Amino acid sequence: MQSWWLDRDAEAIIAHGAKSGIDADFALRIYTTRLLGRDRKLVLHGGGNTSLKTHVVDAFGEKVVVLRVKASGADMAAIEPEGLPAVRLEALRRLRARDDVGDEELVAIERANLTDPLAANPSVETMLHAFLPHKFIDHTHATAVLSVIDQADGEKKCAEAFGGRLAYVPYLMPGFGLAKKAIEVFERAKPSDGLILGKHGIVTFGETAREAYERMIGMVTLAEGFIARNSRAVVAAKRVRDTEPVTAISPIVRGACSLKEEKIEGAWRRLVLDFRASDAALHLMNAEDFERIRDAGVITPDHPIRTKNWPLVLPFPERGKLDDFAKAARQAANDFVVRYRTYFTRHNKRSGGGKLELDPLPRVVFVPGVGLFGLGRTKRDAAIAADIAETWAEAVTDTEAIGKFESISEADMFDVEYWPLEQKKLGVRKELPLAGQIAAVTGAAGAIGCATARAFAATGAEVVLLDVNLAAAREVAQAIGPTALAVACDVTDAASVDEAFGTIAEAFGGVDIVVSNAGAAWQGRIGEVDEAILRKSFELNFYGHQRVAQAAIKIMLAQRTGGCLLFNVSKQAVNPGPDFGPYGVPKAALLALMRQYALDYGADGIRANAVNADRIRSGLLTEDFVKERAKARGVSEKDYMIGNLLRREVTAEDVAQAFLHQALALKTTAAVTTVDGGNIAAAMR
Ligand SMILES: [Zn+2]
Repeated sequence: MQSWWLDRDAEAIIAHGAKSGIDADFALRIYTTRLLGRDRKLVLHGGGNTSLKTHVVDAFGEKVVVLRVKASGADMAAIEPEGLPAVRLEALRRLRARDDVGDEELVAIERANLTDPLAANPSVETMLHAFLPHKFIDHTHATAVLSVIDQADGEKKCAEAFGGRLAYVPYLMPGFGLAKKAIEVFERAKPSDGLILGKHGIVTFGETAREAYERMIGMVTLAEGFIARNSRAVVAAKRVRDTEPVTAISPIVRGACSLKEEKIEGAWRRLVLDFRASDAALHLMNAEDFERIRDAGVITPDHPIRTKNWPLVLPFPERGKLDDFAKAARQAANDFVVRYRTYFTRHNKRSGGGKLELDPLPRVVFVPGVGLFGLGRTKRDAAIAADIAETWAEAVTDTEAIGKFESISEADMFDVEYWPLEQKKLGVRKELPLAGQIAAVTGAAGAIGCATARAFAATGAEVVLLDVNLAAAREVAQAIGPTALAVACDVTDAASVDEAFGTIAEAFGGVDIVVSNAGAAWQGRIGEVDEAILRKSFELNFYGHQRVAQAAIKIMLAQRTGGCLLFNVSKQAVNPGPDFGPYGVPKAALLALMRQYALDYGADGIRANAVNADRIRSGLLTEDFVKERAKARGVSEKDYMIGNLLRREVTAEDVAQAFLHQALALKTTAAVTTVDGGNIAAAMR
């Protein structure tokens, strides 16, 4: 493993820190914390932690000796000064006299001794840092180290691999007990470089930031060398068989890993998927005793809250046998849920009861010949689960190459999965109504599409922005957030629509809500209009919607969790305007199309609804067009825009809210919502 320490960068961060009163030690603590955090072979997503023993001036102007330690759950790669809160060291050290300190009391004591009472909670491993005497301490879950120590004879392998430079602390759950055990082992063995925390990770220390960091890199390099020297040549039988594509598999996996909400009829608890065609995972699935390996457990106690203790492993999806795969996938997912619930009941009883069961759905799914999926209530959580699963496959592969993978016990995994301090890392999240759902919007770069995508994202959905203008859709996606996805889609081209929905299935696992919004207006007196214009309008304003709905239905039927098709119909469908036939006639057909979908797919739980909007400033109704129409009618632009019963201008946001309402109204299908400020001639009858 390479050291990324650069004198130039270290000096720059010291100089930068000096401007805001940060001394060199603290600046370098931030620097090497970031260096460690940036390497996914060392830590992943909020795992690992670092500390510095130093002094600060507290709120009373007194100089106090403190432990600056990473805040719980903070991401080392992006650590800032606030991510290393300062705790009075003396108070923490006095706790060593106690036999035990409960988790809640410990957090309370740590908080009471923060020099800044508003600082974040210190790491769950704070006491380990406090008890060890060294100025700088680094702790990671390095993949290569885990491969050496996640073994039945981990202690022996540790002695061989690190030549006595690290002392071995047997597994204990993180917290006060582990901290006491670690300092006992340290004082007895007096290792030169650090500690191994059995089945958990590695600690290195030093008098300077660089020393602790370089020791971490050095020890991981020793672990890598040990693995290279001791690996048995593993010849995995290569199975070259034809699989179904991931675009066909994803919706099946996603549907199988969903649960009917018990309290709300028609609602599902859904997850978002993140797919990886991970070589390590594909290879590992070919291992002869993969059945033993897959159930063996996690590589470090940091992971159960993200991945659960085992992945769901599905059968091989042989090409041409998708129905068989779907059936087997649903059965396997059911079995997983039953197993998880039994596991929870068993260990909840053992640990005295009173725990609240997490949802029993898998967070990692392996599909032989295809790859792995991370699952989560958000795309971000799904990606974290996938990252950890990839690392798990890499670490376990090496573990098996030099011995036999052994994790902590199931009881130990339960204790960390349901440890209140670990649960806190996930944050107290109030879930939004569309959490776990995927919404695709066509014509997303336009005014109504853009407002609709924003409204769905703000309500918790993952959004996909489809537009023929990819650059414009990207701009909207970037403004919404890092997981919003822009996809090029020309709804007048069947291949483009199929490809776009394939991209959605691969990127998120499927789709639940489709807002079919793309459209454009053509004019002409119907008896005289060129047939080519009418056909052009039908291509976009009718067939465009049909293609999108068809592609969505295919995915929704594979998921088997219902869905929602929403169409932008326009008031022209019920209240045609003069010389507007080329636009109104296909829109009237679209209204019929919506009703046909509601009728044909109601039994599958798929709803279809429409919004009749009128007079919205957009690509259809440009500023110039508004000027022209207002002039033609001899009214001001404002009066033209509020020419309705309520005398209020209707906006793209109003239309977005109507779509959102339809998506949330689980008992409403074949309905039309009119958003036009009131126009009695356009009222539905
Ligand atoms: Zn740890």
